Amino acid sequence: MNNPPDRAPGAAPIALYVDGGVFVRNAEPVESAAIPAPPYPLSGVVSWNMNTTCNYRCTYCTQRFQDDRAQWARDLPGFIDAFCALPGDWEIKLSGGEPFQHPGFLDAVRALVAGGLRVSVVTNFSAPRDTLRAFAAASEVRPGLLSASLHLEYVEADAFCRKVVWFAGIHPGRVVVTCVATRENLPQLVALHAQFQAAGIPFRVQPEKQDRDVIAYRDSELATIRALGGHNGTGHVAPNLSGRSCWAGARYLIVDHRGNAYRCYPARRYRREGLGNLLDGTFRLRLDPAPCVYRYCNCTVPQQRGMVAMDPPPPAAASPSA
Ligand code: SF4
Ligand code: SF4
Repeated sequence: MNNPPDRAPGAAPIALYVDGGVFVRNAEPVESAAIPAPPYPLSGVVSWNMNTTCNYRCTYCTQRFQDDRAQWARDLPGFIDAFCALPGDWEIKLSGGEPFQHPGFLDAVRALVAGGLRVSVVTNFSAPRDTLRAFAAASEVRPGLLSASLHLEYVEADAFCRKVVWFAGIHPGRVVVTCVATRENLPQLVALHAQFQAAGIPFRVQPEKQDRDVIAYRDSELATIRALGGHNGTGHVAPNLSGRSCWAGARYLIVDHRGNAYRCYPARRYRREGLGNLLDGTFRLRLDPAPCVYRYCNCTVPQQRGMVAMDPPPPAAASPSA
């Protein structure tokens, strides 16, 4: 591993991040000293990637090169016990892969709700209506958010919209639609946003990532994404929060299908700031906020739940042209 770069004596602190084992200077100034940690977040959130199996193979899927697209129903009781033992109030966000493909999906939802946990889900929404109805019933005691990902390589937008509107009518929690802003999708996103908003369904865009980073959008494309609310409605596309105090690791964490826990998605990507494993007794939750050490935060949960201080987003274009 290379040594961290020197800095002049007396110079303002710089943030460093590790990229492929190499320390790199942060490109943007760090103002963390002036930004105190946000107050303790009353509700914690786990993003549980409960399987890697999926019935789709989207060209932009960040898991598309993964050989191991498996799922282990046998470990379900261990996961449930670990989540129910978390201190305080927690929401479990189920994702994958495609979580509805997990053989124990509905059992997991029922067990988590019985343990007093709020359950949300990120899904490609391909599950049959009977299964979706069963999910709505299973989670109705503490309903969370259903985030339906629109994958235009596989579904037709009008039919998808009708199905989402139907589901929103039977699910007591929130329902949103998301779509990845690929270059192929971008020309359609403004019209899709209008279509879903008119149907009463919030429509969020997600920047496309390749090789760990947001793709090199042109300025006009960035303006369109910002005008559509930025990443998941945060107003930002690829914020650099390095140096800021963040509650991820204490009130937010990522858990993979093998039980490995990380502070957040960038932590998992770089295989650092691990929190142990939920299934083998090594899991340790942090107690306090800690400085962010990543140059790009793609975790919109901590951003939107007040776990890290956010700057106001850059001004959005008045009338997006896609
Ligand atoms: S639906 Fe999601 S998990 Fe499945 S292939 Fe597409 S992007 Fe990947
Ligand atoms: S969630 Fe975002 S802000 Fe917090 S540590 Fe991770 S990358 Fe940094």
